[in-house]
Order: sequence, then structure tokens, then C-alpha cells
Amino acid sequence: MSEECTHDCSSCGVDCPSRGEPQDLTEKLNAYSSVKKVIGIVSGKGGVGKSTVTSLMAVMFSRMGYHTAILDADITGPSIPKAFGIREKALGSEKGILPITTASGIDIMSVNLLLENETDPVVWRGPVLAGTVKQFWTDVYWKDVDYMFVDMPPGTGDVPLTIFQSLPLDGIIIVTSPQELVSMIVTKAVKMAQLMNIPILGIVENMSYFECPDCGKKHYLFGESNLEHIAQEYSLDILGRLPIDPAGAKACDEGKIESVLNPEAQQTAEKLKSLL
Ligand code: ADP
Repeated sequence: MSEECTHDCSSCGVDCPSRGEPQDLTEKLNAYSSVKKVIGIVSGKGGVGKSTVTSLMAVMFSRMGYHTAILDADITGPSIPKAFGIREKALGSEKGILPITTASGIDIMSVNLLLENETDPVVWRGPVLAGTVKQFWTDVYWKDVDYMFVDMPPGTGDVPLTIFQSLPLDGIIIVTSPQELVSMIVTKAVKMAQLMNIPILGIVENMSYFECPDCGKKHYLFGESNLEHIAQEYSLDILGRLPIDPAGAKACDEGKIESVLNPEAQQTAEKLKSLL
């Protein structure tokens, strides 16, 4: 046993007698809630379009007729409510905190629905951030959800680690962009999921190319990606490649993501659905 033993084996790698059987650290869902499938959306770093892909998947699954939810676990950079144009604050009930339901019926919980001002920064330490995400699972009343999409914080730090351990994820999607793939960052995300025994459902390459609206030619602005290579190396499915979509980005900024068509995102969602 280490001299500084905290008796919390989840954060210590020392093999000592006080280490018992591996523990199940999964948190219990609110007693009134029902969530059939939970899918995490991860990225090696911020800005690759993780929140956009999360929102688009929820919109597409909702269009397929499923009751869909988004748990916004990107506590320090919550962007989901803005994409859906949500201004209301979440309220409580005797069954738990009530998510806000969007115009098309998607249930959302995000720290921005609890803050007085959405521009207030969240300046909290790791355990408080992770505790908030856990509470979004244990204290929110998620009513009859078929598919929940969890917008994970970027990277492989403390908060994503806690979420991997405490939410019963059925699988994750890794979002990347062509520039990011040339680095080792995606590989880190893949290895983290493998370490935590979480199935990787596949990779989505966002901002993959730009399709000229006049001639229809695809331009690979960031160069040809090596997505195939990475996918092959780790035996991962490529769920889809989403183009650079200035109109879609504008719709997100205006809170109108539910009106975005995006056929490539629809195909990606259909492929994802076939794996669940
Ligand atoms: P992350 O969650 O990885 O930090 P976001 O989803 O917030 O990234 O996206 C970062 C910015 O890039 C946002 O302004 C978003 O509207 C824009 N964006 C994301 N995907 C696309 C895309 N395919 N085409 C154009 N803009 C995009």
C-alpha cells in the first residue's frame, strides 16, 4: 500500500492487498428514468465538430421516429442548447430535474440550462465537473428515451475518464477532422476506449471536404485524409464523412439545427443505427 493511500483504487495503479475485486463504478439511473441505449461522442481535441455531430445524430435519430436525448457532458464548453435555440432554464420536479424538450421532441440537459447567464464560465475543478455529469445521469428525469447521445468533453482527461467509468455506455463514436487524423490524437482516444473496454462503434470524419455548389466537385481543403489507414489499423468502421457545411454551421449559430437536412449526416446515422 502506498503511504498516501486514499483507498480509492480507481485512481491508483499500485497492486497491493487493499485492492479487491474490480468494482463496477457505474452510477444508478434516476429511478423514474428509462434510457435504452447510451452512445458517447468523443474527440481527441476540441473544435473538430464533436458537438455538431452529437446534435446531428440526435436530430437524425429523432427523424427516424425514436425518442432521443442529449446529455451535454462538455461542461466547460457547452454548445448544445445554443444549436437548438434553447433559452429556457431547467426546472425540478419530485421525480428529478426536468430536461428541456426541443421543438422536435429531443430532451436535453446541459449545464447552460442551470446557469443564470449562459456566458458565465464554469470554473470548477475536475471532481466537481465529473460530479455534475454523474448528476445529469442520476438526478435528471429522462422519460422513455430510446437513444441518448452524450457529448463528451474533448481529450482523455479526468472528466472523460469518470464518464467512461460511471455511465453505462453502449459504445462511442470518435469524431475527427482530416488534419487531426495525421496526428496521434485519434489513436489516444481509441486506446483509451479500448483500455476502458468500451466498444468503439466507428469514426466520423467531419469537415472532410467541401463540395462546390456550382460544379459539384469535391475539394479536399485539408488534404486527403488517412482515415482508411487508421480505421484499418484499429479495425474500426468508418460511419461517415461529413462535408464542410457553411449553411449548416450558420443554422447551428442561429439555433436552428433541427432544420438542417445534411444527407451525409442522415446516412451516417442510418449506419450507426444498424450497429446498435
Ligand atoms: P467541438 O464540439 O469538437 O468543439 P463544435 O461542434 O462546437 O466542435 O464545432 C466547432 C465549430 O465548427 C462550430 O462553430 C461549428 O458550427 C463548426 N462546424 C462543425 N462542423 C462543421 C462542418 N461540417 N462544416 C462547417 N462548420 C462546422
